[in-house]
This record gives sequence, structure tokens and C-alpha cells, in this order.
Amino acid sequence: MEKSWDAIVIGGGPAGSTVARYAALEGVKVLVIDSREKIGSPLQCGELVPTNNQLRKLCPHVPEIDDLFNLPEEAVSRRTTKMGLVTPSGKKLVYPFRGKILERPVHDQALVDLAKEAGAKFLTKSKVVDIQGNIIRLANGDEFEGKIIVGCGGPHDPLRAKHWDEKSLNIFVKFMLIEGNFDDQVDLYFGSTAPGGYAWVIPKRNGANIGIGIQKKYAKDVNLKTKAEEFFARFDGKITYKGSGALPMSGTISQFTKGNYMLAGDSAGMVLPSNGAGITTAMIGGRVAGQAIANHIIHDSSLDEYEKNWDKQMGKMMKYSKRGIRWGEIMFNSPDWLVDASFNSLSKPFIWRAVNCRPVLGIY
Ligand SMILES: Cc1cc2nc3c(=O)[nH]c(=O)nc-3n(C[C@H](O)[C@H](O)[C@H](O)COP(=O)(O)OP(=O)(O)OC[C@H]3O[C@@H](n4cnc5c(N)ncnc54)[C@H](O)[C@@H]3O)c2cc1C
Repeated sequence: MEKSWDAIVIGGGPAGSTVARYAALEGVKVLVIDSREKIGSPLQCGELVPTNNQLRKLCPHVPEIDDLFNLPEEAVSRRTTKMGLVTPSGKKLVYPFRGKILERPVHDQALVDLAKEAGAKFLTKSKVVDIQGNIIRLANGDEFEGKIIVGCGGPHDPLRAKHWDEKSLNIFVKFMLIEGNFDDQVDLYFGSTAPGGYAWVIPKRNGANIGIGIQKKYAKDVNLKTKAEEFFARFDGKITYKGSGALPMSGTISQFTKGNYMLAGDSAGMVLPSNGAGITTAMIGGRVAGQAIANHIIHDSSLDEYEKNWDKQMGKMMKYSKRGIRWGEIMFNSPDWLVDASFNSLSKPFIWRAVNCRPVLGIY
């Protein structure tokens, strides 16, 4: 493996593989380093993303959606047309929502393949332990040099941890895969079912992905393990997998670039806090970062282009998503009876706008 690269990307998840793909497409020499043996495995995800058509409506400023989200059919387990928002008493507000439920490990491998086809190189089973200047050091002592270093290592990215002071709110999440027949509807549960967060039931081809995330400060004496056990016990079927993870839920950090360092995906806080979507946003951010790297290496343009273009494409959405979660905080602080009462036909459109990163009382 060569030691010297135009760009080194830490982490080959949706953000890292997409950065690598779009930089390599322009001829930039990119190395992606990932600690996993197989990127995308083991699964740590609810696996829900909007369809490309739904995304065009949700993110009207993001160009060339079909080029970015160009997935093989094997990466999709099932499609769904509805989403229900459920209160603790079981009251449900149902909305049309066109979603794809992924086979996430297959999806992430497909992104790796696209990056490799574009010319990026991958080094797996290699943990980055330190970054000093232009040098990246691995756990086995090997060192690599990159003109640009991109942190795409998720919520615990080593570049972010060492070179950024800003903190994000990380929400811890537990989930399982279960066999059985589930309706063609994604359900999100609120109130005391999942204090300060939500629980989900996302139907798959032969079962469902069921999970829960809570915030400690709203959970009083109950912990995530207990809440997860309570929620999972509602469903019958053979459990085939259990997992956990963390989601940064306070939105984007204030600076994505420092000198020749860049962050993208979860490490930059790109998860939309009002709904937990992080796969598509990591890829949108990844493409913008990859293109900025190519322009910098080839035309010597400023890496600041990255943040400017992210803002053009996703700035409004992120702003309204951060605002939406403030409305959510009112709900997190409310007793169940009030959550029940506030989910009604009058509030229905406003709740949906908050979840979907639209101004609750505006027209965007
Ligand atoms: C339980 C759970 C459920 C979720 N459900 C959904 C959902 O349904 N829909 C949705 O859109 N989003 C969901 N998300 C969020 C989504 O998974 C993330 O936003 C998305 O994966 C971000 O991509 P990324 O590339 O930034 O990070 P990741 O996908 O986390 O990839 C980071 C990569 O970096 C590697 N890495 C980390 N540290 C190092 C290191 N030191 N050295 C080398 N490599 C390193 C890791 O091995 C990994 O491959 C969920 C998250 C969790 C935890």
C-alpha cells in the first residue's frame, strides 16, 4: 500500500465511501481506512431511508439525487408507503411516506464498490489511533500521509475527538431484528414509551427492525435496557439479531473544516435531529466534501466550498430540523395524557412538518 495520498478518509461508511467516490471520480488519489473487516457489518441501524422521489420533495436543493442514491435492488429489503406516529395510549396519526427499508450491510458494501469503481483504495481491519499534522497512525504502528484528512468515523471519529472541542448530544439506541409478518407501515412511538426519543417498528421483507432510543435526562429512573426490554416484549417472533449504537442528535457542528482536516457524516453531526435520518444526509455531505476535495487538489480552490455548498443544499433543512426538535422537547417534557391529547386532527399537519424539517408555522 502506498504511503502518500491526496486524501485519506477515516471510515468507509455512507459518508466516507461517498467522499472517496466523488473525489476519486475526478482523479484524486484517495485511501479509505476502516477498522471493520467488512464495512457495514455488524448492522447498527433501523435501515429506513426515503425513496429517491420522496427525497426530491424533502431536499429540493440537493441536485442529481439518482446519481447519488444509485442502489442495487439487493440493497432494498422492502418499500413502504405510510408512516404512523403513535402515542403511549396507541392513538396513531398516519401519513403517506414513501420509504425504502434497506439491507444496510449490502447497501454499505454497494457504496464501497462505487468508490472502488471510481478509483478509491480501501484498507480495512485497520484502526486509526492518531492524527498529527498530515500523518495518520494505525493501531499496528503503520503510518500514512494525506494532503487532506477526512474524519468519517461516525460519532466517535478520532479526528473529531482530537482536533474539535465542540460536543454533540449522542443518544444511545438498542434495536433487534425479528421474524414475522408486519404491515406496510413504519411506526414511530413517542411519550413514555421512549422518553426524550422514540421507538420504531420498521417492516422488512420477512420481519421487522424494531428499536428504541431515549435521553437519560427525560428517563428519570429507567435506563435504556429496561425501556428496550419493555418495548421489545410487545412483539412476538424469533429474534434473529440484537444490536446497539449511538446517534448524534444535536445537528451539525459549527465548523466542518479546519486547515486540511474535514469532517463528514455523523462526525460532523449531519443526522437530522427531528427524525434521526443520517444515512442520506451523510451521503449528501459526503458528495459535497468529495467534490470540494477534488476542486482543491486539481484547481487549488478553497476547501470552504464544502461548507458553503452543504449550506446551499441542506442548510434550511438542518435549521428547521433543529427547530423541530425544540418543539419535540415540549413533548418530551409533557405527561402522556398531554401527548395523547396533542396528537389530533388539528395538530396532525404541524407535527408532520416538525418531523420533516419544515417550519411548523411557515411555508417552506
Ligand atoms: C441503531 C441505529 C439506528 C439508526 N437508524 C437509522 C435509520 O433508520 N435511517 C437513517 O437514515 N439513519 C439511521 N441511523 C444513523 C445512521 O446509521 C448514521 O447516520 C450513518 O451511518 C452515518 O454514516 P457515517 O458514514 O457518518 O458513519 P458510520 O456509518 O458510523 O461509519 C463510520 C465508519 O468509520 C469506521 N471507524 C470508526 N472509527 C474508526 C477508526 N478509529 N479507524 C478506522 N475506522 C473507523 C467504522 O468502522 C465505520 O465503518 C441509525 C443509527 C443507529 C446507531
